Amino acid sequence: MPGDESATQGTTTVLRADWVLTVDARDRVLADGAVAVADGALVAVGPADEVLAAHPGAEVEHLRGHALLPGLVNAHTHFGMTMFRGYADDRDLQDFLGVVIPAEERVLDPDRVRLATRAAAVESVLAGVTTALDMYFFHADGTAGADEVGMRLQTGQLVVDVPGPEGWTWEQRLEGAEQWLAGRPARPGWRPVVAPHSTYAVSPEHLAAVADLAARHDAAVHVHASESAGELDLVASLHGRRPLQVLDDVGLLRPGTVLAHAVWLDDDEVARVASTGTAVAHCPASNLKLASGVARVPELLAAGAVVGIGTDGPASSNDLDMFVALRLAALLHKGAAPSATAGTAAGAAALPAAQVLRMATAGGAAAVGLGADVGALEVGRRADLLAVDLDQPHTQPVFDPVSTVVYAAGRGDVRHVWVEGRPVVRDGSTVRVARDEVVADLRALQRAVDPR
Ligand SMILES: [Zn+2]
Repeated sequence: MPGDESATQGTTTVLRADWVLTVDARDRVLADGAVAVADGALVAVGPADEVLAAHPGAEVEHLRGHALLPGLVNAHTHFGMTMFRGYADDRDLQDFLGVVIPAEERVLDPDRVRLATRAAAVESVLAGVTTALDMYFFHADGTAGADEVGMRLQTGQLVVDVPGPEGWTWEQRLEGAEQWLAGRPARPGWRPVVAPHSTYAVSPEHLAAVADLAARHDAAVHVHASESAGELDLVASLHGRRPLQVLDDVGLLRPGTVLAHAVWLDDDEVARVASTGTAVAHCPASNLKLASGVARVPELLAAGAVVGIGTDGPASSNDLDMFVALRLAALLHKGAAPSATAGTAAGAAALPAAQVLRMATAGGAAAVGLGADVGALEVGRRADLLAVDLDQPHTQPVFDPVSTVVYAAGRGDVRHVWVEGRPVVRDGSTVRVARDEVVADLRALQRAVDPR
């Protein structure tokens, strides 16, 4: 988590840009807009002349040719898996896990997870991601790595029934979760998290204990669910039920629960997810690469479900590029529209650019329990934002900056990123942890994973 010290303490900074994409309740897009930042929060958002007039003593940064937008929220990932990027490609989920889990057992330790997570945080902030919902072993060490970069990592105890790389008993794991939640209560920009892996890696009895723990601490619950057809078969053989039924039976379909993937939902489950306020983290790159299937995102959105976008871990996606993930989401659901609309105007209208940008920002923030804190440029929210340079051959002309960001821009166009009003990327370079340093770390981690 970003620390408490703030470079903007006591001073007000105005960021002015050619376009401000607020992703607020009215989806306002301001041409020649500005935001004012003080003490890590947004204190004004509006037309540049109005914001400048209201803050005469402010430091002003004029971002010509840029769009300012809320920091992207990666709603499902495993940052520590950067060390396994490219290690198990072109396999389905069960095959992938069969390769990766033994490698994790052999390789993971606290310092390696810290370094791998730090590298993932550098990759992420360079791509405009300011918040990520993470799930991995040694979460406290991963958090330390993300803190060095200045990124907002929402993470907590990973709960599985096996001892895992820590060699923990179930009781130790639950105690670890309790201590983490008790030690880090909710505050603006942070919601405590517990992460039971899935209904195939955690028994229903243990999931019920996690549900009780989460309710007592008002914690977000981060869980994989209904990712593949194989998972449905496995859970049916273990528990005689579908994954969502197992979660429903222990009270885990509720606001604050984030279902990673949720590809294989039937009609009743789509309705149940929406009516219970359960969120979904849609991971189009991972779902395509692992041939898991196509999530029913248009139906979930139509039912009123909270949906964010995630990359999944860098061993299965294989990068942490939210620009790719959000563009894939926009394109995939047009082409994969139900047969009644495929090839029609209704199919092409599925998941328009503004809706996808909302999923990658405000939707993700709401999913991870930070819906009032980040994800939109609105007065009172934390000042997490990025500036994208749209003065590029591949981004001009700009008729609609939202469309340009979604369909034409990429992570290489991210020039500046702020978390809590403090710069974490300036002119395309990280401020706190050098890019070269994490590249060297990743090379060393590769030798640990595979010493050949
Ligand atoms: Zn995952």
